[in-house]
Amino acid sequence: MLPDSVRIVEVGPRDGLQNEATIVPTPSKIEFVNALVDAGLTEIEVTSFVSPRHIPQLGDAAELAGALSPREGVRLSALVPNARGLERAREAGIRRIALFTAASDTFTEKNIGMTVARSLTVFGEVAHLALEMGISIRGYVSTAFECPFEGAVSPQRVLEVTEQLLALGADEISLGDTIGVAAPTEVERLIELLRRRVPLGRLALHFHDTSGTALANVVAGLSLGITTFDASAGGLGGCPYAPGAAGNLATEDLVYLLQRMGIHTGVDLGRLAQASAIIERTLGRRLPSRQLQRLGAASAAETRNRSATRGTSREAGGGDVAGDPAAGTPTRPR
Ligand code: MG
Repeated sequence: MLPDSVRIVEVGPRDGLQNEATIVPTPSKIEFVNALVDAGLTEIEVTSFVSPRHIPQLGDAAELAGALSPREGVRLSALVPNARGLERAREAGIRRIALFTAASDTFTEKNIGMTVARSLTVFGEVAHLALEMGISIRGYVSTAFECPFEGAVSPQRVLEVTEQLLALGADEISLGDTIGVAAPTEVERLIELLRRRVPLGRLALHFHDTSGTALANVVAGLSLGITTFDASAGGLGGCPYAPGAAGNLATEDLVYLLQRMGIHTGVDLGRLAQASAIIERTLGRRLPSRQLQRLGAASAAETRNRSATRGTSREAGGGDVAGDPAAGTPTRPR
């Protein structure tokens, strides 16, 4: 049985932009987030309150969060690494935080400088403070299928970390296929185990499309009753473990699939593509989302047809086509 509707957690402004080499200026980020809200996204992870030395791409966290005005029915969240980050997030008006750990020690040590156990101790304090402030908590369990350093990760280990994060007061756990290698059978095996101990409504799936399996994995999750999925507008972000390969599942591609399956998302695909176009312009390159490229090609063809019917044959055959953005579509850098 498939669900009637799905919640999408948009992670492009945080998970996407932190993995881009170019630092996007704050005004473009504000425009981007507002456009995502206009497209109908109601849960957006907007930034991370980490040290700008570690992630310069998100060095404007306080400025960005402070500039985004709250809108009815929209929840803007931010990742925080420690109590200091929590305090900065609270000052900037953030009411929901995300805590980031993983199911493998080597990954967390390289990524956040702590073992999984140590991260849960640190997050215990952060979670306690957050809940006292009335701030809600989402938890991430990264490397839920495979670790880039340790290889396969056991579902039992994912269950343990998930339960520990829930015990700290997180109301939702996002399980990440960090290196984008999982297949639907692995998603089934993991969810079958977790559902014995964790309510399905507390689980979200965060897929990367590095191996082209992200949407197949979404369908596996849907058929087991998962109704929350993370995605990144345009497929923003890339994969830090496979340079040039796709990373985060693109929100456009997820929305297209769900709409086509008759599952409600509340997101307008055309408006979402407009939001991603803001970032494409800033980065000066095409983003990998298939639907974004399809919509771009369709609107370019429409413009071409309109100008061909409007102009004389000479004008349409000469100047217009040469100036057509679709004619000179740049190849995406590898
Ligand atoms: Mg990701």
